[in-house]
Amino acid sequence: MTVLKGARERWVRTGGVELCVAELGDPEQPTVVLVHGYPDSKEVWSEVAARLADRFHVVLYDVRGHGRSTAPQPLRGGFTLEKLTDDFLAVADAVSPGRPVHLVGHDWGSVQAWEFVTVRRTEGRIASFTSMSGPSLDHFGHWIDRRLKRPTPRRVGQVLGQGAKSWYVYLLHTPVLPELAWRGPLGKAWPRLLARAENLPRGDYPTSSLPTDAAHGAWLYRDNVRARMRRPRDDAYAHAPVQLITPLGDVFLSERLYDDLEQWVPQLTRRTLPAKHWVPRTRPDRIAAWIEEFVTGVEGGRTAPATGKGPHADRFGGQLVLVTGAGSGIGRATAYAFAEAGARVVAVDRDAEAAARTAEMARLLGAPAAWAETADVSDAQGMEKLAEKVAAEYGVVDVLVNNAGIGMTGSFFDTTPEDWKKVLDVNLWGVIHGCRLFGKQMAARGQGGHIVNVASAAAYQPSRALPAYSTSKAAVLMLSECLRAELAGQGIGVSAICPGLVNTNITATARFAGADAEEERRRQKRTAKLYGMRNYPPEKVADAVLRAVVRDAAVVPVTPEARGAHLLARFAPRVLRALARVRPPV
Ligand code: NAD
Repeated sequence: MTVLKGARERWVRTGGVELCVAELGDPEQPTVVLVHGYPDSKEVWSEVAARLADRFHVVLYDVRGHGRSTAPQPLRGGFTLEKLTDDFLAVADAVSPGRPVHLVGHDWGSVQAWEFVTVRRTEGRIASFTSMSGPSLDHFGHWIDRRLKRPTPRRVGQVLGQGAKSWYVYLLHTPVLPELAWRGPLGKAWPRLLARAENLPRGDYPTSSLPTDAAHGAWLYRDNVRARMRRPRDDAYAHAPVQLITPLGDVFLSERLYDDLEQWVPQLTRRTLPAKHWVPRTRPDRIAAWIEEFVTGVEGGRTAPATGKGPHADRFGGQLVLVTGAGSGIGRATAYAFAEAGARVVAVDRDAEAAARTAEMARLLGAPAAWAETADVSDAQGMEKLAEKVAAEYGVVDVLVNNAGIGMTGSFFDTTPEDWKKVLDVNLWGVIHGCRLFGKQMAARGQGGHIVNVASAAAYQPSRALPAYSTSKAAVLMLSECLRAELAGQGIGVSAICPGLVNTNITATARFAGADAEEERRRQKRTAKLYGMRNYPPEKVADAVLRAVVRDAAVVPVTPEARGAHLLARFAPRVLRALARVRPPV
């Protein structure tokens, strides 16, 4: 039974086994070989393969003893890394005789592919390697050695931490029991357990060969792990560029394992994503996009990644980020920061010219693509049209930043119903529309994402001068918390950013309820001066936005006064209430 639609199949005979090989796409294009892990068969790649087949010659094979490939006899000693390397070379020679292939491995597929890319006899046969959730056993062995030879509490902690994550490896080394479990109750329960633990989408994965795959695959561990970890090779240097994709929520592997990797890999590109272990099933869009970018780059003679620099490039390279209110201040700085990290940016503003300038600059700063869109966030229909257009032309947004907002000061009795409507329409409804429309697309795609809502320190710091503005921001803060709870199970994070005074244009456009036009201008000027003296740059808020996404932070006060007020709101709310009574200076 195959779930690889449209695949052509062939059999490759090697070292006493027959390997079932499936191919998709045009054989004239660069060949991408996908190697599956444990306990899996090649069908784990079905979603990724389908996304790559338009551009590449995609090849998948069942590792010996898995899926429809035959098992070695006897099993013991039949799964050594040397034999697995023979298999890979036989497949590569059959599907791409004259040209090196681009290797991609997940889990044990990655463990064995590390062997392929670090032994001499495959030199010239591998153009690149994309690794996910599976380290080199040699690198792993050295990683432990180094930490135990020169122990510090942190280093020992790292080893113990990874040791605890490897509990299943010890179990798999026990004789017979794993086979009995997999062929019995565990094999039956596995699809349900896996779907629940990893939040897998429904579908025809895992396949019916799972109990046999898992029973045979126990020999992958027994034939290799202890031997290699005891005597890791000293010359396990990669002879092709490597892209390392690290899922940050992997319960089996610590991200620290890859700390020393630059030493072994001269051309290394790092990628991280907030996901669990089975990323080929849960994040096929992102994985396929990163493979495509890397392979295309290597084919074009580029070894460094095409996109992204700075501390967050590993996370945002190639991602689609939409920022509202991107024509000025915090929104513009945020769009630039994502652009520098290599994201594709959609800059939305009601001011078309300002949005266009942001998009243009974003491209110059490093965004592989940037678009400007004109929309008023308070307009439900306009936002619906925007969401449809973005989905159709650019794709599902990975990170949404609901930033557009307006200022409004003035006492409660000076604030007219029209004033209230205006500020709530933009500051609250704008955020509601954004979350509803783009959040729905994220949830429907089922591959995670992140929503950032720019609230304010005014959300938790009362003030007699800002009743309408503070109310709108308090609502945004609570909306963010509620949505965070609702979307947590779907891998979608929600963060509320709460800046204090930031030097932007907001003071020049803020409404001063109760003031006539002249008085309003005067106050706007005075407030602008005050914010100018405070001079906190919007770029620092932008950094906080990116960090909030990386850390999946719930509420992020930015600026010292915002952090101070946040502490007071929690521990001494009376002090904040007293401060709220103070008349503002302007
Ligand atoms: P800004 O005035 O410099 O930029 C706001 C941008 O949003 C402008 O480009 C504007 O055209 C756009 N915008 C306004 N209303 C819109 C609408 N209805 N639809 C689409 N675009 C619209 O202001 P800023 O200081 O960068 O503010 C950004 C966000 O940060 C706001 O939500 C604001 O409330 C919040 N904030 C600002 C400060 C601060 O001190 N500047 C402090 C806390 C929170």
